Order: sequence, then C-alpha cells, then structure tokens
Amino acid sequence: MGIKTAYKGYKAYDYLEKGTDLSDMELCAGEKRVPEYLIPLSEEQESRVLTLARETICISLHEHPVLFPENLQADVFEYNREGRQRCAYEALSKGYFDVVFDNMMDGTCNIMSRGGWKWDEVLHDIGMRSCDLAHQDFAIKCETIEDIYRAHREGRIAVVFVLEGASPIENEVDRLDILYGFGVRSMGITYSETNGLGSGMKEENDGGLTLFGKKCVERMNRLGMLIDCSHSGDKTTMDTIQYSKKPIVLSHVGAKGLWNSKRLVDDDILKACAAKGGLIGIEAAPHTTLTQAHPLHCVDSVMEHFEYVKDLVGIDHVSFGPDTLYGDHVGLHNAYARKLSIKAIQGEGFERVEYVRGMENPTEAGKNILRYLVKAGYSDEDIRKVAGGNALRLLKEVWVR
Ligand SMILES: [Zn+2]
Repeated sequence: MGIKTAYKGYKAYDYLEKGTDLSDMELCAGEKRVPEYLIPLSEEQESRVLTLARETICISLHEHPVLFPENLQADVFEYNREGRQRCAYEALSKGYFDVVFDNMMDGTCNIMSRGGWKWDEVLHDIGMRSCDLAHQDFAIKCETIEDIYRAHREGRIAVVFVLEGASPIENEVDRLDILYGFGVRSMGITYSETNGLGSGMKEENDGGLTLFGKKCVERMNRLGMLIDCSHSGDKTTMDTIQYSKKPIVLSHVGAKGLWNSKRLVDDDILKACAAKGGLIGIEAAPHTTLTQAHPLHCVDSVMEHFEYVKDLVGIDHVSFGPDTLYGDHVGLHNAYARKLSIKAIQGEGFERVEYVRGMENPTEAGKNILRYLVKAGYSDEDIRKVAGGNALRLLKEVWVR
C-alpha cells in the first residue's frame, strides 16, 4: 500500500533494553491478532479506495492505538502498572489513519492507585508516552492543525493526546492549562462516573453541568481544548452543548434509536450537538453499537449506526471514533468490568462476540470505513467529509492554532 511511507521500524521504547529496563512480557501480534476481515469490493472499487486513502485526510476521533499483552486478561494489570503502554507504530503504519485521537491509559491508568485516574498517574502516562514519541520519527505528537497536514503530507501519523474524563483535575481549573501544556487537546467532561464537573452516563440521577463544570467549559473554550461528552449523562451533555461557546464532540457513541442501552445517545441530544456545529463519531468497541438487524456486533452493526446518525443530523456532522485497540478488547472489558462500569452501561441480554469482525483494531477499522463508504456509493466529496473533513472543520473552529 505504501501510504504511511515514513515508518522505518521503530518499536515503542526501543531506546531501552528489553528484560532489564523494560518488561519482556509477550505482547499481541497487533493487527494480525485475529484474521483480518475486509469488506469485499470489486477491482474498480479497490482502486478507488486506494486513491482515496492516499488523497484524503483520515481522522479517527477515538482510539487506544497501543499494543496490549497477548494474554490480556491475565497480564493487563501488571502491564498497566509498568506505566509504559506501547504505541503500536508498526500496526498503525499499515492503516489509513493520518490522525488518531489517543485516549492514553484513561480508566486503566492504575500505575500506583487502585481506582486509577489520579493526577500523578495521568501525568506519568503523558510524560512517558511523550518521551517515547520523542525517540522516533514516524508518529507526530499532534498539537496544531499544521501537525495534521504535515502527517498527511509526509506519510506519518499524528497522535492527539486525549483524556476521556476530567476527574484527574479534581477541583483545580488551572490543571486544564497544565494538561494543555502537556499536549492534551480534547477531554471528556466526565467518564461514566460522576465527577466535580457533571454526571456520568451510568448514574441514575443526572444533576447536569455543575458550577465548577461551567468554569471548566469556559476555560476549555479559552484554551482551545475540544470538549467531549461521550460518557456523560443526558442532562450534563445537553447543558454542555448549550453552555459551551464552541461546538463539542461526541467522539465515540451510537444511537439509542437503534439499540436501547445507557451507552448510546438519544436522538434529541445528537440533533442538539449537530445544531451547534458539533460532530458525532460512531463507536465500534465490543457490545456497544448493536442493532436489532445486526445483534451480533460486527462492522455491519457499526455502519447501521453511521447511516442512522447521518440521516438524523446530516453528512456534515458525522464521522468515526471506532474506539479500538491492538489486543483482546473483550478481555480488557472483563478484566476491568467493575472499574469501567461495563455492565451498567452496556446492559445485558444480548449474544456476546469474541471480537468485532471488521472493526477489530485501528488498522482494520480505518480500512473498512473507506471500503464501506465506497461500496455504499458515497461521492468523493461526502467520503472526504466523513473520513476526516468534518473533524478538521471542527478542530479549526475549536483549537487555537
Ligand atoms: Zn470511552
């Protein structure tokens, strides 16, 4: 394919000695962990996909682009305690994304604590990952719009640092500036649990955006930090959409109109987000974007959510945030079931899969997004919008440079 031409073979923390400075735990085989499933295309469609992949800026609004242990469920706690999640440079170089929003360790940031998300741990994670990025020349730590164009131009990938929830800032608005200084360019108001800013999606009572939350929204607007409400409760999300002077993102969600679970979003909220100029990224993590027609989670279920949201809010306000990783994502959910509130937000009573066929990891997800859009007969212009143009427009409006 040769789209990511700048990759020359660096693996995460190659500057360290394995077995001495860095654990030699066996990691999974990246995008080859499970058999690849590509949406079948005609020869003509194949060549259109390749042309689009070369010419289009492709942005994933939500990923965890790191390698997890081969035996994830058994080894993930030890791996995370080491505090050096390995960016999957090689696997990313085989995909189409020019930009990935990287959610760091997030809810699995248990380097020192049991509950995770602590300020010191989050800074440890950001500092460590920044150090690794500084020792290689393929991925760019993305802090500006120009970094995105540069990654596309030079066959590299731009990695945007993101936090899914604001609990690490505790009650300190100024910590937003500190996170921005360390490169964080988007943050969730809450994760699934409530914090000082607002209520999370798993809660039964949503008190909406708090006064402290409003201060944080004001500061994030001033800083040029994109606001995400993917894990917030309904009222908190609506309040944030209305209170924020800048459009917000729901970076990895699906439509409750297709599948009734707490993890998915009501039509009126999707419409309100779009009406203020915001963007909705379609989610693909296991057992989230299910549908009645495709209750076994796979790329078809994910694309049904895409079509539904597109019809609801228009092609200018929809994109993708597949929320995938390199490793056994279902095993990760099992290992962290209580901490990540998996049952409370996904619900029960559906057949489970081992992995999401066709959207298993960032490499496969990026390919199948373009393949689906080509197969479904979208115009080049519409594909450019959905693949990255809509996200780029939003970032130009929100980021300060
Ligand atoms: Zn999430």
